[in-house]
Amino acid sequence: MREVLLVRFGEVHLKGLNRPYFLKTLTNNVRRAVRELGGEVWLSDSRIYVAGAADMAQCVERVRKVFGVHSVSPATEMEKDLEAISRECVRQMAALSGTFKVLARRSDKSFPINSMDMAAEIGGRVLQSNPRLSVDVHHPEHRLNVEIRDHAYVCVEEIKAVGGMPMGTGGKAALLLSGGIDSPVAGYQLMKRGVTTCAIHFQSPPYTGELALEKVMRLAKILGEYGNGMRVYLVPFTKVQMEIHEKCADGLGTLITRRFMMRIAEKLARQFGARALITGESLGQVASQTMEALCCTDQVVDMPVFRPLIGMDKLEITEIAEAIGTYETSILPYEDCCTVFTPRHPVTKPRVETMPDAERNLDVEALVREAVENTRVEIV
Ligand code: ATP
Ligand code: MG
Repeated sequence: MREVLLVRFGEVHLKGLNRPYFLKTLTNNVRRAVRELGGEVWLSDSRIYVAGAADMAQCVERVRKVFGVHSVSPATEMEKDLEAISRECVRQMAALSGTFKVLARRSDKSFPINSMDMAAEIGGRVLQSNPRLSVDVHHPEHRLNVEIRDHAYVCVEEIKAVGGMPMGTGGKAALLLSGGIDSPVAGYQLMKRGVTTCAIHFQSPPYTGELALEKVMRLAKILGEYGNGMRVYLVPFTKVQMEIHEKCADGLGTLITRRFMMRIAEKLARQFGARALITGESLGQVASQTMEALCCTDQVVDMPVFRPLIGMDKLEITEIAEAIGTYETSILPYEDCCTVFTPRHPVTKPRVETMPDAERNLDVEALVREAVENTRVEIV
């Protein structure tokens, strides 16, 4: 008899012929998540198990953050003996009160008692042992799960996990990561769909300082915990911003800045092997995020730009930021390179056709090349 963690997965089930690939990736990701705890991980009978982890609470915390995992349950793994199983069920239900239901499943058909009889027998024993419990088969407060597979497994608690798709099964993308609330959430949304993500951050020293950088690295680290760490590209952006400030119409400054970010990000994304960019833009949030402005931004890139927050309100975004643990860091005061040169009256309905002319005084190619060449990479 020993304690194991039972790991359930959701959508991976739907993947048809690719299912073995998704399951293998998911199993490896769970393995990586519990490695430091000394946990042994295996896949058997469409279930992932973790055994031998030094600390079950830690193990739960780590595994429930692995994308593709739907829920987890600390369970007792034991011999397939009805008497012993009943005793274990009584033990697990001893401290509980309210209503319950026994969910018995017999995958091993050689076990002599069918699921219905097993549920009835165990339910009876639990009721006898604990007068604070009663049965409710429709809306029980507690579900006592008994599964007969290669061993018997007994568990009550089911802890919700993050869901999504296994990291690494969704391709690669590059996240434009500022120090704000939105972009970390945008990155999280795509990582959740299995996308391996690197971060690109634009810095404008001396206008943006060490603290701003530290903050971004901290955000990248938090996001990295959901995957396998994160690669952060740090782009020197001061020169681009100064040139825009000096040589372009003030009202289009932010938009032209955004276009440079996209151009540079696309080049870096290709170095990383990424096929798409991710931003934290939300329609109408600021002047550079009107539909007209977004069209102007997209004009300069030749890869898809994913904007998972496009239809979300700030409040909804904030709730996710709190849930994933980035909010506290995002609200620390700092100056972003965008805020340094913000025009007083930004154009809200820019026209795509006029943008090349608005940039005519800049050597776009040279500025982009120089920024890309001077980008450094850090891994968190
Ligand atoms: P956020 O909360 O993500 O900062 P925001 O509402 O402040 O978003 P903007 O400053 O207009 O919006 O930026 C829009 C998007 O551009 C951000 O979500 C982010 O993806 C990207 N971005 C902005 N500034 C930077 C930066 N310094 N480095 C990298 N990406 C940036
Ligand atoms: Mg910002």
